[in-house]
Amino acid sequence: MKISHLSAECVPYAKTGGLGDVAGALPKAQAARGEDTDVWLPFHLSAAQWFRKRLTWPEQACDPFVIGIMGQPYGVGILKSTLPGSNVPVYFVAHDPLFHRQGGLYAPSDSGIDDGLWRFGLFVRAAIEGMKRIGRKPDILHCHDWHPALGAMLTAWSSWRDRWFDDVASVLTIHNIAYQGIYGMELFPALGLPADVAWGGQIEFDGALNLLKGAICAADIITTVSPTFAWEIQTPEGGARLDGILRIRADRILGILNGIDTTEWNPATDRYILSHYSAEDLRGKADCRAYLCHLAGFEPADPGMIVGAIGRLTDQKGFDLLLEAAPELIRRGIRIVMLGSGEPALEGAMRLLEAHNPRRFRAFLGYDEALSHRIEAGSDAFVMPSRFEPCGLTQMYALAYGTLPIVRRTGGLADSVIPYNGHNLASANGFHFEYASPGALAAEVLHAQHVFFQRDIWHRMVLNGMAVDNSWDHSAGQYADAYRRAREVRGLPL
Ligand code: ADP
Repeated sequence: MKISHLSAECVPYAKTGGLGDVAGALPKAQAARGEDTDVWLPFHLSAAQWFRKRLTWPEQACDPFVIGIMGQPYGVGILKSTLPGSNVPVYFVAHDPLFHRQGGLYAPSDSGIDDGLWRFGLFVRAAIEGMKRIGRKPDILHCHDWHPALGAMLTAWSSWRDRWFDDVASVLTIHNIAYQGIYGMELFPALGLPADVAWGGQIEFDGALNLLKGAICAADIITTVSPTFAWEIQTPEGGARLDGILRIRADRILGILNGIDTTEWNPATDRYILSHYSAEDLRGKADCRAYLCHLAGFEPADPGMIVGAIGRLTDQKGFDLLLEAAPELIRRGIRIVMLGSGEPALEGAMRLLEAHNPRRFRAFLGYDEALSHRIEAGSDAFVMPSRFEPCGLTQMYALAYGTLPIVRRTGGLADSVIPYNGHNLASANGFHFEYASPGALAAEVLHAQHVFFQRDIWHRMVLNGMAVDNSWDHSAGQYADAYRRAREVRGLPL
């Protein structure tokens, strides 16, 4: 089956979170299974910089062409390379004035305007025109999140006037339902959709355009990144106001847990950590712990539990709960290492805690890939107090690194961590807590600390975690089933 992924992010060219990891890893796993897959993404400034740093440049895939949007011509180039470490083609849609943003992938225009619909609308329309020009028609157009949502809509609603879409099926993957792509209705003509779609109820929401809603209505199959999140988004609490439309499409929704890129995240080969280790020989983990103590300014001989935490400092991740619980945890002998950047109030709270507890709380502010590996390897436990978490990757990295996750029971955290309940040592590999409160979090971290000092039990749980197969191969098989279903429901040959 021929699969084309459309995504705003893709590791190593552009990443702000898990979306970039998935778009970089899933196609490689599919190719390893013998599937014919490629990736399309905007030629962001970070992608251009990635090539420049390596003194190389992607090749031109076809002659430049022009896409007209509301009467304005946009000259576009299609550049081609391959995903590092694979033969998977990656096609970049190049239009520097819109895609080269100094402030980041999703930064507004120089005049401060959020022109996301315009930018990503151009991306999708140019990608499809590019596919036509290079003679590559996918069996599955796989659109990730709201940015390429237009791809699913064009596939569903254009076939009567563009026969190219006749035998293409679409899959939408929702990585994060909080971001929906909401814009003024006056921008509808920029999408290039049939006029009647505007008022048919599929894309309009509260008088505005909602691109994610449009793709939910249009896609042949909708996937989300964990089975629990697939259920949660159909509830008023978890649906970010799209639960109603998702319930209508319930028979098309599947939850597929993300995998992890084991070429990047494997303690036996990791290029960032001091000492390699595996389930068979865990001695290197003690070296990594000592090195993390050195980096954090902690006493390495202190046998107390070290808890790591990494992520974007946003309300979603619940780090405010951890920061509130931290003084009590520190009093009880626990040391905490946090790495993250985001909301200034949370960054300020981290700095304050560090100032008051210099040898027990360490706040690393910013984005640091190498340090994230060192924290995963060197900590004893890893906390993720997310208010919601579609899948989450860092708890899966922790499992692979023999670092036991302590997570709130939500989304992919509930699906990937098996909590210890006192009589399930054959499978337990972490800890759950239910309520998003500092008290509930503290109670579970203290429970983990209690288990931590029962070394045999802890060791067994570490081995359980390291034995879990979170590789992409497993998830890629489930996506293959989803693609078959997408073609089936559209009445296309498999
Ligand atoms: P989300 O996609 O919601 O941000 P995930 O857990 O799915 O959450 O993915 C986050 C990814 O970003 C992980 O690979 C994590 O290691 C990485 N990450 C997040 N914040 C940082 C940071 N400050 N420094 C290094 N890596 C980070």
